[in-house]
Amino acid sequence: MTRILHRSIAASLPHAVAGQGVYIQDAAGRSYIDGSGGAAVSCLGHGNVEVLDAMRAQMDRIAYAHTSFFTTDAAEDLAGKLVDLAPEGLDYVYLVSGGSEAVEAALKMARQYLVEIGQPQRRHIIARRQSYHGNTIGALATGGNAWRRAQFQPILPETHHVSPCYAYRDQRPDESADDYAQRLADELDAKIRELGADEVIAFVAEPVVGATMGAVPAVPGYFRRIREVCDRHGVLLILDEVMCGMGRTGSLFACAAEGVRPDLVTIAKGLGGGYQPIGAVMLSDAIYQAFAQGSGLFQHGHTYICHPVAAAAAGKVVEILARPGMMEQVVAMGDRLQAGLEAALGQSPFVGDIRGRGLFRGIELVVDRDSKTPFDPKMRLHARIKREAMDRGLMCYPMGGTIDGVRGDHVLLAPPYIIQPEEIDQIVERLAGAITAATAG
Ligand code: PLP
Repeated sequence: MTRILHRSIAASLPHAVAGQGVYIQDAAGRSYIDGSGGAAVSCLGHGNVEVLDAMRAQMDRIAYAHTSFFTTDAAEDLAGKLVDLAPEGLDYVYLVSGGSEAVEAALKMARQYLVEIGQPQRRHIIARRQSYHGNTIGALATGGNAWRRAQFQPILPETHHVSPCYAYRDQRPDESADDYAQRLADELDAKIRELGADEVIAFVAEPVVGATMGAVPAVPGYFRRIREVCDRHGVLLILDEVMCGMGRTGSLFACAAEGVRPDLVTIAKGLGGGYQPIGAVMLSDAIYQAFAQGSGLFQHGHTYICHPVAAAAAGKVVEILARPGMMEQVVAMGDRLQAGLEAALGQSPFVGDIRGRGLFRGIELVVDRDSKTPFDPKMRLHARIKREAMDRGLMCYPMGGTIDGVRGDHVLLAPPYIIQPEEIDQIVERLAGAITAATAG
């Protein structure tokens, strides 16, 4: 009997006892291929000796030192590596313990920055409908996913939402990608003006949407137009790369592929690769200098920020991710995964869209491909797919999203970057079997 309050109380979970490469073993001796990296976390797979050695070495030196007394080589080294590898303009790092903490810190950093530079009237956050930015109160309020917010709505601070960039559903048949991007930028511009152009703090978005929509990249040019709108009104651009960052989409930072310079970027998940809980906010020099020359402190903090063992693990993960060939491997394996999924599922009457970038792929399920009608939420198709996949020895990440208030189902795939071609093929075969079984009545 479990004494843990698991997320799904009814589910009886197998006990994971070992992990090696792209596989996890349970206590009954069954092996599962990690097609989702957990929740897009395990970018280097399981049992990476270099990362484990780095953690051990750090633990032998010192396992914990509070940040009001000390910094550590591990934290400084990680921050230096991240700044060196990040797109230009992300010059400082704030280290936390996960994605929600990173988003909370970014929101507070944005607000404090504007207070420091004499704009305390700025108070509104704008994000996008159907988005997810974490489960703590501020991050949950930022996310626009109606289902996740519903029962907590009365205690959430007010946040404003505009349309996501979701070409499969929202780009009109007669509309070019350019025109669609412009329409969305105009919508953001109108929302900022409606709230008061000098009263908005920041716009928050994921470069490639993960949990709520299933690996949905924006159309080309969308983020450049969004950046222009933000600049016009002095609004900060916060890009949430908690899920899509750290090489997941084939570039170490997803925003690098969009050609925009965000003011703040959040990262987590792949940063620690699952070896340690860690997240970070990367910030511009302008924000850092406003703090340094203003109040002299960022009024925030948690007991475990800059944890040395987490930083040592992440420092090694980042070093490995930056090695020659790693991002090329993500792109090549991602292309193979996309091609395999299209070959196996492209003709299925229930598969509406197969999309993504790098090793971040999503499959959207529909009752009817022409009308794009989602499955009845009562069917809990995503849960069925997960069960069928686990029975076939595959971990994937199916979710019931919210499409215009109606729940729709998708499957997210985010395997480790070390995956080999035959393992990609195994994922495709098992997932196709699981989807066929789950939709069979
Ligand atoms: N932001 C995004 C885009 C996410 O996908 C997630 C988690 O899935 C979070 C924030 C929250 O991260 P965490 O679960 O580490 O708190």
